[in-house]
Amino acid sequence: MSEKLNTKAAIQLEDKYGAHNYHPLGVVLSKGKGPKVWDVEGKEYFDFLSAYSAVNQGHCHPKIVEALVDQARTLTLTSRAFYSDALGIYEKYITEFFGYDKVLPMNSGAEGDETALKLCRRWAYDVKGIEEGKAKIVVCADNFHGRTITIVSMSTDPESKAGFGPYTPGFVVIPYNDLKALEKELEDPNVAGFLVEPIQGEAGVVVPDEGYLKKAYDMCKAKNVLFIADEVQTGIARTGKLLACDHEGVRPDILILGKALSGGVYPVSAVLADDDIMLTIKPGQHGSTFGGNPIAAKVATAALEVVKEEKLAERAEKLGKIFRSEMEKIDSDMIELVRGKGLLNAVVIRPKNGKTAMDVCIKMADNGVLAKPTHDHIIRFAPPLVISEEELMEAVSLIKKSILSFE
Ligand code: PLP
Repeated sequence: MSEKLNTKAAIQLEDKYGAHNYHPLGVVLSKGKGPKVWDVEGKEYFDFLSAYSAVNQGHCHPKIVEALVDQARTLTLTSRAFYSDALGIYEKYITEFFGYDKVLPMNSGAEGDETALKLCRRWAYDVKGIEEGKAKIVVCADNFHGRTITIVSMSTDPESKAGFGPYTPGFVVIPYNDLKALEKELEDPNVAGFLVEPIQGEAGVVVPDEGYLKKAYDMCKAKNVLFIADEVQTGIARTGKLLACDHEGVRPDILILGKALSGGVYPVSAVLADDDIMLTIKPGQHGSTFGGNPIAAKVATAALEVVKEEKLAERAEKLGKIFRSEMEKIDSDMIELVRGKGLLNAVVIRPKNGKTAMDVCIKMADNGVLAKPTHDHIIRFAPPLVISEEELMEAVSLIKKSILSFE
């Protein structure tokens, strides 16, 4: 179909024929390159959402797209019923890249989380010796790990959880950034794992106290409990280090990656762990038709190479500091708080004359910067990490102009 749609027609089509499970901003994008995207009318924007941090390497990165196209012309899918000449090479590359014995490849972030939960439970029964069916996994309030039935069972967000019961049992919710609460739950010998986001992205870029991850990790070790990090959003250079856990020198027992693992080019997720955990899952006990397919293998390898070659973690660290200091300089009482790490940042908006974070986002879109509010009053700012300092400053001036227009 080569029909050319304008903004109104494209929105109407999605509205009529698509499920109403999202509430997008009213822009219709048709092209992307690096940190920028263009809508169907040709208007240019800086993308400050990066598909929720999937496009860390920038839109349509030539090296990643080339890997995709090359492999798509050669062999797309074998399923795991057979070996492929792409998967093993990728598995060696990613495990060496992150320093783990093994990887279990999946597609979406939610599948990565599901995989980690299954691994943790198997380890609990086969290695730790918890009685079958009794394992508990501690999770944090306001978490976001996806939207499967089991994942929403761990959620405290009524919007994603309510009305989808009965829920999967076996989870204990404690407040985020609360070591005392963790210490108390770890007294239970049936606790097998602690699942945590190093920074809570969807909750509004909530950064825990310095030392929280390290102390939580040490507490888990003392009780033979697996420390499971969901780095689907924070991982792969976004926060100024390869992993957000690297800020505190923590090496998770189970590491979950997604999103930027493909640079936003293809759905690729992965769970990494050492043999004592990973080999508890035996043939037939977990998998996915598309997980680890040849295209995914080649795309993810290219995406990780780009992160290293273009020093994206270092760029995120440097540009993040500039971004936060520029936001803090804006003289508006609508800015309640600026927080974040690397290029994963948020501005908490204090509503003014009835104008909210959504109004600010609409104004920013008018001025050429795309971002989306989370939880009504928080705007997340997460541009592709390939953005140059000059481009960042150009975007900063558009953001300033937008916020000051409400003064
Ligand atoms: N985990 C975290 C921390 C996320 O931020 C997300 C998505 O935003 C997910 C898991 C789910 O990933 P996906 O949407 O690819 O299933």
